[in-house]
Formats: sequence, C-alpha cells, structure tokens
Amino acid sequence: MEKIASFQVDHTKLERGMYISRIDGDIVTYDIRARRPNVEPVMDNAPIHTIEHLFATYVRNTQYSDNIIYFGPMGCRTGFYFLTRSLPHEKAIQLTVEALKFTADYEGEIPGVSAAECGNYREHDLAAAKKEARELLKVLENRHPEMLRY
Ligand code: ZN
Repeated sequence: MEKIASFQVDHTKLERGMYISRIDGDIVTYDIRARRPNVEPVMDNAPIHTIEHLFATYVRNTQYSDNIIYFGPMGCRTGFYFLTRSLPHEKAIQLTVEALKFTADYEGEIPGVSAAECGNYREHDLAAAKKEARELLKVLENRHPEMLRY
C-alpha cells in the first residue's frame, strides 16, 4: 500500500507548533503538535480527552461553527488534528489560540461528560488539561500563517 501523507513528514525534525498537515479542496487539516515526537514524553490520555471536549465545544460555539469539521487527538498522543473548511489560516490560528485559552481558564463541569454523551466519560482530567493548554499556548501565541509549513 502507499505511504499516506502524514507518514511522509519527518517526525524526527518536528518541533512543538501548529502546521498545515494537508489541504483537500476547501478543507485544511492542521497538525497542532504539543510534544516533540519520540523525544518528549507523550501526553496522558485523560487531559487529551478533556482538551478534545473543551476545544470542540469552544470552536463549535463561535461564529465559525459552520467552518469546523473536526478536532481530535493523534493516536501517538503528541498532538491534535484540527480540520476546517473555507477558513483563512489566520482565523484557524486565532480560533486555536482562543480555544486553548478557553481550556486553560475553564472552571466547572466539563461539557459532554456523561455516559450518554461520551464513550469514556470517567477518563478526564481538567487540571492536567488546563496545564497542557497553557503549555501549548506558549508555543502558539505568536504563530502567523508563514510558520504553518512543516
Ligand atoms: Zn469523550
């Protein structure tokens, strides 16, 4: 079988950051990388899961909700994929930073945490998610579109 595009990125040279993983017509897949692959310890699943809930809730409640296709974790636990449609890169960066700030400052009940709404509702960690979000914000706060290339 052919090697898919995301395996063609040299993961040994990848730093923390936000990158364009691929573009399919009007859909852009962003690689939001929270760890240096194979160098830094990966994230725990509980904070990843909580970030997934909070980030998705935030971006789907903005005026760009119709431009959001997906947000979710990478199986390697070093980052997330964020898919948008017909959204300028600057807006995608802005939304990412806003969603991470929302996560970093979040208090109260995590959205979607019940057996009816989530496939593993017991595995969440808000405190650790907030810490992860703060770490990622340090990397992303001064991102601009020219920096999105691998
Ligand atoms: Zn869930």
